Amino acid sequence: MRRSIFAKIFGGYVLVTVILSGLILAFSFAGIRDFYVDGETESLKNLGTALDTSAIPLVAAGNHLELDRLVKKVGKETHTRITVVAPDGRVLADSETNPENMENHRTRTEVAQALDGNTGRFLRLSGTLKEEMLYIALPMKHEGRIIGVLRLSLFLKQMNDAMNRFRVKIAEITVTILGFSLLIALAFSRSLSRPIKELSAASRKVAGQDFNVRVFLRNHDELKELADSFNSMVSHTRSLFAELTHQKEELTSIISSLQEGLLVLDRNDKLLLSNESFKRLTSGLASEGDFYWEIFREPQFDELIRKVRSSRQNREDEIEFSKRIFLCSATFLESEGEVAVVFHDITQIKNLEQIKTDFVLNVSHELRTPLTAIKGFAETLEEVVEDDEARHYVDIISRNADRLMNIITDLLTLSSLEAKGAQPQFTEVNLKDLAENVLKIFTHPVKEKNLRMTLMADDALPTIEADPFKLEQMFINLVDNAVKYSEQGGIEITLKQAKEGIVIAVKDTGIGIPHDSLARIFERFYVVDKSRSKRMGGTGLGLSIVKHVVMLHHGSIEVDSSVGLGTTFTVTLPEHGSGQSS
Ligand code: ADP
Repeated sequence: MRRSIFAKIFGGYVLVTVILSGLILAFSFAGIRDFYVDGETESLKNLGTALDTSAIPLVAAGNHLELDRLVKKVGKETHTRITVVAPDGRVLADSETNPENMENHRTRTEVAQALDGNTGRFLRLSGTLKEEMLYIALPMKHEGRIIGVLRLSLFLKQMNDAMNRFRVKIAEITVTILGFSLLIALAFSRSLSRPIKELSAASRKVAGQDFNVRVFLRNHDELKELADSFNSMVSHTRSLFAELTHQKEELTSIISSLQEGLLVLDRNDKLLLSNESFKRLTSGLASEGDFYWEIFREPQFDELIRKVRSSRQNREDEIEFSKRIFLCSATFLESEGEVAVVFHDITQIKNLEQIKTDFVLNVSHELRTPLTAIKGFAETLEEVVEDDEARHYVDIISRNADRLMNIITDLLTLSSLEAKGAQPQFTEVNLKDLAENVLKIFTHPVKEKNLRMTLMADDALPTIEADPFKLEQMFINLVDNAVKYSEQGGIEITLKQAKEGIVIAVKDTGIGIPHDSLARIFERFYVVDKSRSKRMGGTGLGLSIVKHVVMLHHGSIEVDSSVGLGTTFTVTLPEHGSGQSS
């Protein structure tokens, strides 16, 4: 059960006040009685001391009759019962009755105390009158001896009556004070709880996004400070909220006006956010909170999301949706485990690429026949021409025809690799055997250049699923470059198994590649040194072919090079099915 702050403060106050009043009453009642009894004891003692001066000579002289008369007289005047007791307990005189009729008082506590030389005091019910009485007994000393005991007693009934009246008065005062203090407590609790209630009501309004609320208190204490801080916090929150809302609106309008489709998936692959373009892409099926696979099913997209999540890294892939091709760039958002995907429609670019590829393919095909004719006739001419100068020109024609043929062959290879739907023919490939066969092709140029060539392969190198012809092409291009661009030292080919797949490294001790060219060497027709490449019979297409082969196998290629020291190309290929999703 929720109890209000008012109930707590007031309840606590009432509890403390009532307990305190009760304690004060209890202690004061006990204290007042003790105070009364002490006062009466003192008066009786004083009376006894005064009476002793006349009574002691009478006791010493054995004048009991006179003593009894004196006692009766003083007792009547002072409303006190006075008794004189001999050391043996016999009553010698008594103010109320005939002493001869009274029993022996030797054993009475107060008498016994007095006979021991002390002032005896005792409170008890009187045997005859059944009323509470206060007894004081004083030893009567004569010439250093105790010759009797003077006992003075008083009915406490009177005192009790007075005390009861006094108690009633005290109780009345206490209740009045209690009433007043509770009224004050009520007002105090109200004044303390009201600002807290106001603050709490205002907080509730702020939680409900009402930022116009303010709390004004008349207090001049910490609560006022709290209210002031609350007000400034609310106005600060209001401006922050307005700013955030504005930013959100801006962001929403930017996102929705984006040409690219945008999709954000939460950690459970449910749609968190999507823009208009994405909704159009899914024919309006996309709605926030749905699993993405409820909206569209595309194994390549599933694979992309799975890879982004498992690697926690951004990735992109070309994926076909509803007969259009999209470059899907998926970004992993570390903080919440979300994935944001941008769908960039590249259908047109892809079509243009296709037109370009087809064009290149057609031109290459068309050029091939006349070129073969030029080459054939140049070779025939070489045999028949005798003039040195003419021979030189024919030689130039023949070399350039070779170069052109190389370019055309490479262009045709590239086009076949890029051709739409050109899928590699995967079979089990023994990489070591394949590499050994390739190396045989280079035995002659290696020997000519006086280079060393070694192949190192893991003993337990597994076979991989790959397209052997394309892999061979890749090996040839890499080793060809290594031989072409090395003048001394050797070429080292390493095949090993690693966690990521099979790693193929082709390392040479050649001229190396300048650092700023490294990023461009895989581009078509890019050559570092034109004249050198030309001299070597290069086309600038070799590494483009290599990159394409690696990509068709879903692998990766890296290059590490130092000018003057050598170059290492490292290709990593997945072992099974070349990383293709099923
Ligand atoms: P090319 O047919 O001219 O060799 P590539 O595409 O095979 O064309 O290579 C592109 C360029 O990269 C080359 O012109 C060359 O400058 C550089 N290159 C490639 N491989 C090596 C290598 N092993 N050592 C030094 N340079 C290299």
